Amino acid sequence: MLNANLAELSALLREKKLSSVEMAQEFLARIEKLNPSINAFVTLDKGMTLAEARAADARLAAGESGPLLGVPLAHKDIFCADGWRTTCGSKMLENFIAPYDAHVIAQFKKAGSVSLGKLNMDEFAMGSSNETSYYGKVKNPWDVKAVPGGSSGGSAAAVAARMAPAATGTDTGGSIRQPAALCGISGLKPTYGVVSRYGMIAFASSLDQAGPMAKSAEDLGLMLNAMAGFDERDSTSLERKSEDYCRDLAKPLAGLRIGLPKEYFAEGLSADVAKAVEAAIAEYCKLGAQTVEVSLPNTNLSIPVYYVLAPAEASSNLSRFDGVRYGYRAPEYGDLNDMYEKTRAQGFGDEVKRRIMIGTYVLSHGYYDAYYIQAQKLRRLIAQDFVEAFKQCDVIMGPTSPSTAFNFGEKGDDPVAMYLSDIYTIATNLAGLPGMSIPCGFGDNGRPVGLQIIGNYFAEARMLNVAHQLQQATDWHLRAPSI
Ligand code: GLN
Repeated sequence: MLNANLAELSALLREKKLSSVEMAQEFLARIEKLNPSINAFVTLDKGMTLAEARAADARLAAGESGPLLGVPLAHKDIFCADGWRTTCGSKMLENFIAPYDAHVIAQFKKAGSVSLGKLNMDEFAMGSSNETSYYGKVKNPWDVKAVPGGSSGGSAAAVAARMAPAATGTDTGGSIRQPAALCGISGLKPTYGVVSRYGMIAFASSLDQAGPMAKSAEDLGLMLNAMAGFDERDSTSLERKSEDYCRDLAKPLAGLRIGLPKEYFAEGLSADVAKAVEAAIAEYCKLGAQTVEVSLPNTNLSIPVYYVLAPAEASSNLSRFDGVRYGYRAPEYGDLNDMYEKTRAQGFGDEVKRRIMIGTYVLSHGYYDAYYIQAQKLRRLIAQDFVEAFKQCDVIMGPTSPSTAFNFGEKGDDPVAMYLSDIYTIATNLAGLPGMSIPCGFGDNGRPVGLQIIGNYFAEARMLNVAHQLQQATDWHLRAPSI
């Protein structure tokens, strides 16, 4: 059962082979066994999980049905969930119990899924390795010496280790796709505005987007069906007709045009990752697709642009953590300013402080025009590269990450090396485009490789179709670590 996909779990419930309570208990037992070594969950609450499962069992008994009704899932600890401790990976929110549900959480409750707990993450979603969490690093289930990726590393590790059948994540510069790649699972970052950010603790609001993480493209589609939708409480939520993201899964791929950006296969890409990605593309050609070389000439500007804009937005968003309204407050202080200073000095970790300082600097008088405004202009050029590329192709493919999972400590002391590991994912966020990662093989060290698929705006159903067809022809997504 632990390897079952969401449709199979739903069938077990529908056919009364298992109750939702029994299903949740099996996953909780697996979590109890593995979490001490993997550290994917920061908060577990058996009482709350089983209460949700009992409520789902009652709905099932009353004849209600639905693809996620009674199915257990786990949530990144960036989503406020009523009554659950919500830490965002920070000491700042160590004792914060959310008093309301994020839109994403409310949507899953409506669908009847059961929360197994809250998942570890980089502090305030800043990181690519999960080493910045106040609650300790998450280990990669394929090799505990390796990072799981970040910031949704707890989500990716939990799904890879079969502690949860699927999970939520968020992606500001790659945080769904990169950990999915490094842990050998599937993950999708939707078009900006498709999923409401209400109740999702803000990092960089113009880039943040929530999405599903699961074993297969089909499962991602089922989850996105629940997550997506208009929400008037998020001013950037898009008012669109609801769609079934699974509708095109079975479509054949004949005639699909795959754009291969030459900048994504250049210097800096590990040979073993390139080999696995090229093999996946060859498989697509067997399925009837054709490839075309495209160019995203401003690719190398995406990291510098992101590290001006994301910290700028973060410095503003994180100003709310001041020790007054909620969260941590320094135990001893003099006047009000001293209270602010001590609270923020003690409550935030190093990476968060680094971003707040960069962000404050680029927004300050005299530097705003030179950095912030300039970065906004370049952001437009980066987005324009994709508009041009999509004139020649239906989807863009390439590696998700330049290497397989690296070891703990390898990049921890060198922020720039860490930032460079997001070179293939960040531009998608700057452009607001949807992107996903699916497993496509293993590197020389036996660690998973991810294939990135980038679609045009609102092409999620097409991307899921493209991913699903590879998953019908290969079994990379079924491989699980022996843990
Ligand atoms: N690794 C990137 C960063 O540190 C992206 C994080 C994210 O997508 N949340 O900002």
